[in-house]
Amino acid sequence: MASSQELILKLLAGNPPDLRAMLESAINEGNGLTRRQKALLEMVVDVPTETDVEAASSDRAVRLTQIKRRIAELREERDEIKRRNDNLASALGACPECWGEDAQCPTCSGRGGPGFAVPNATAFAELVEPVIQRLKNLPGGER
Ligand SMILES: [Zn+2]
Repeated sequence: MASSQELILKLLAGNPPDLRAMLESAINEGNGLTRRQKALLEMVVDVPTETDVEAASSDRAVRLTQIKRRIAELREERDEIKRRNDNLASALGACPECWGEDAQCPTCSGRGGPGFAVPNATAFAELVEPVIQRLKNLPGGER
């Protein structure tokens, strides 16, 4: 069993193939180490290796890329929903900001429900007239 001096000499004697394994072995074998020396060696062994740090950094980079991709997807989705909202509000003459549900709305002061403004004829023809036709074609005719 090597003494701690021998271990230190071994560690200092050049380029040990696996310093971590040597430290773990020294801790496990005892080697006449005091509890304090053992605790210090355990702290050294517990320090993440460069490989650990690189792996964690790589994991974070992958996760960051995934998050950025998801944010881009959500932005696209939001933009599409906003475009549909604005188009429908235009077809119904409603405030696209609040649909008349926000008394503090700078655009309509909460008066912007459907019919608040003159509906956009093109949007109305595209989005509302097919619904009216559908209702007219229901059994029982016009409602
Ligand atoms: Zn509004």
